[in-house]
Amino acid sequence: MAVESPAHIVVVGAGTIGIEAALYARFLGYQVTLLDSGDVGASLRKWGHVRMFTPFGANCTRLGRSALAAQYDDPALPPDDQYVTAGEYLDKYLQPLAESDLVANCVKRHHTVVSIARSSQTKTENLGLPERGETPLITLAKDQQGHEHVFESDIVLDCSGVGGQPNFIGGGGSPAVGELAARPHFETGLIDASGQDANRFANQQILVIGAGHSAATNICQLSVLARETLETHVTWVTREAKANGQTGPVAVIQDDPLPQRKHLAGEANQLIVDEAGHLDHWPETTVKSIHFEPQNSHFHVTLDGKHAGIHTFDRVVANVGYRPNLEMLKELQLDLCPHTDGIKSLIQPEPNFYLLGSKSYGRDSSYLVADGFDQIRRVFAIIGDRENLDLYAEPPGSSNLA
Ligand SMILES: Cc1cc2nc3c(=O)[nH]c(=O)nc-3n(C[C@H](O)[C@H](O)[C@H](O)COP(=O)(O)OP(=O)(O)OC[C@H]3O[C@@H](n4cnc5c(N)ncnc54)[C@H](O)[C@@H]3O)c2cc1C
Repeated sequence: MAVESPAHIVVVGAGTIGIEAALYARFLGYQVTLLDSGDVGASLRKWGHVRMFTPFGANCTRLGRSALAAQYDDPALPPDDQYVTAGEYLDKYLQPLAESDLVANCVKRHHTVVSIARSSQTKTENLGLPERGETPLITLAKDQQGHEHVFESDIVLDCSGVGGQPNFIGGGGSPAVGELAARPHFETGLIDASGQDANRFANQQILVIGAGHSAATNICQLSVLARETLETHVTWVTREAKANGQTGPVAVIQDDPLPQRKHLAGEANQLIVDEAGHLDHWPETTVKSIHFEPQNSHFHVTLDGKHAGIHTFDRVVANVGYRPNLEMLKELQLDLCPHTDGIKSLIQPEPNFYLLGSKSYGRDSSYLVADGFDQIRRVFAIIGDRENLDLYAEPPGSSNLA
């Protein structure tokens, strides 16, 4: 059944998809509250120095462009085929969009959502019955002062991403011994080795764990630093030795439609051969325990597998993927994939609750911004019960954008 505007929609997370979803909803006349635990685009800012592997044209929508054109005399957007950094994408597109008239007054920064539930019905009640949708959804958020705020709405779109929940480094996905205590001292993101992190990493013994695109990005960046500062040494630990016929552990997607992504994977693998003096690759190895010594800021790491032993490092960078925060959804009726914790379908047993963006993919890191745009289009067609509703469609006769 259609939920007509001006119903109230709470959007959780002001990242790429939260902002676009809020814009879409406002355009259709819904009341929107957009909550973020930090500032707009906070998670993108963490890797602001990294060049995206999809071109700008794939990361923006026709609706977003229209909103910017209506708001600003010269939005000065990058060309569609340009590969901008995450910081440029934020500054030139997402931030101005969040400040545009349609979205600005919906945004509540520094509101961390701790729970989404249904008013007066627990998870165990009315499974699959129409009564389940008859009471509003209640979103509880905490602000920076610790004050709690309750938002009642007809619909919730959870676009809170996965960036806030890095996976554990233990071989089986659970915390390695000592990891919980050591965590605040090691890195889980993208190092700006030629910028703000250069001094911290130069001439250090560095351990990098993982074989995904984030690890590949860090290996490439740290290799440049190691060439320039000769005492820098990187040890790269991966579970696998080689991915699908490659010279190294990073999987290269055959026929990858994104040449920049393919290039990144190949480059990281090749560095194992080219940078043998600065970079050691230790395959078929996992982390058993990690202890941080505050007196000298060293990590003592016990490895298991082919390179078993105890080793000391100055810096540890764990790039072992992310998982969704499901804790805040515990009172909702969800049907998630047992492999990935992602959604199996946009329509969940819980009426009028939708997971969108990277969180909807759970631990599956293949998600792209363009997938989220497609979800937004589909979800508003479902909400409005209008199969052909598509605000991203190009008017007949014009060129084709997202
Ligand atoms: C290094 C890296 C490079 C990538 N490059 C590309 C690329 O080139 N092209 C591409 O298509 N995709 C890329 N991706 C994948 C993906 O598109 C991005 O991660 C994208 O930013 C995900 O968007 P999102 O809106 O789902 O989540 P995010 O952008 O992570 O936004 C989530 C927001 O929710 C907020 N939040 C989290 N928890 C809460 C809470 N409890 N309460 C309130 N707010 C909360 C966060 O502060 C954040 O602002 C990349 C990912 C990474 C990590």
